[in-house]
Amino acid sequence: MKLSEAMREKMLLSFELFPPKTEKGMANLPGTIEHLMKYRPEYISCTYGAGGGNVGANREVCQMIRNAGTVPVTHFTVIKNTKEGIRQQLEQYLADGVNHMLALRGDIPLGETTTCGDFNYATDLVKFVRDEFGDKFEIAVAGSPEGHIACRSLDADIAVLRQKQDNGADYIMTQLCWDMEQFKYWLDAIREAGVTMPVDVGVMPILDQAATINMALSRNGCVMDSELCRLISRNWLFPNPFNAKDADGKPFDMFYEDKVKRFKEEGIEYTIRQIDEYRALGVDGIHLYALNKWKDVSEIIDRSGLRTLI
Ligand code: FAD
Repeated sequence: MKLSEAMREKMLLSFELFPPKTEKGMANLPGTIEHLMKYRPEYISCTYGAGGGNVGANREVCQMIRNAGTVPVTHFTVIKNTKEGIRQQLEQYLADGVNHMLALRGDIPLGETTTCGDFNYATDLVKFVRDEFGDKFEIAVAGSPEGHIACRSLDADIAVLRQKQDNGADYIMTQLCWDMEQFKYWLDAIREAGVTMPVDVGVMPILDQAATINMALSRNGCVMDSELCRLISRNWLFPNPFNAKDADGKPFDMFYEDKVKRFKEEGIEYTIRQIDEYRALGVDGIHLYALNKWKDVSEIIDRSGLRTLI
């Protein structure tokens, strides 16, 4: 059964991993996946490096996911990719037994104004995959509840989402969104625009201050709601979370350890509350960015009841 069809029957749980940069990280990943498999995720997705720099590692991770017994979904971008290159890579994924993808444009490389490839947008990629491969791939596409950082307007971005559906996309994986009022507005607006694809919501666990700020602001321009801002302020690592230790690795902030611990505890509570709200809205899936960690993710799933109540 397609994931999009399964989502119409019940709310799915899935995880997102990234290909580790080190051999040690790669060696540890099967163990992490094994722990996550305890929660019977309907799929696990694996990110794709901008410009395809880590395709080898991505394919390896997809195989780890497959071997663990769930569906691998590969992220895929058009950055620096030609039509022929895309065709060959996708044929390789199919040969590897990977037939689910998240079709993305990718971020424009720094210093460039285009994708440096044959396609400019994810809509083009969706159409190309359907034209070339028919129904061989199940295709997810990105949705941005706050509007993509470079969009002309939220309306224009929603029109693009409709176009992705018209071009053959199956379901939506969302960008993280901490602004629940905005999420509700977007959900109503896409339905009004005729977007009927299931919505699989991306949830980033709040575990680390610098990573949270970085994820929100480095590329995506995501709003942090006042509760999250206060959580960060209450536990602020002086002088700042990006520069919390001196050259010898000694923290500048005398309360460093306590704050890191408390931030994570409060961040987990915050994440669980956010999951509650998404579930109450009737979303079709919870897609947890597992950040290649299993202990904290397990705590979130156990305490939220994600696998006991559904
Ligand atoms: P698009 O949908 O193509 O949109 C890009 C911009 O162009 C938007 O502003 C849109 O409004 C506009 N637009 C789209 N189509 C048209 C059109 N036809 N005419 C005019 N304007 C148009 N990046 C990675 O490099 N690797 C990953 O693994 C990765 N994983 C991600 C996972 C998720 C769940 C999400 C939400 C994002 C992920 N990203 C990843 C980031 C993503 O690549 C960036 O957000 C990128 O800048 C936009 O990709 P997109 O597919 O949303 O682009």
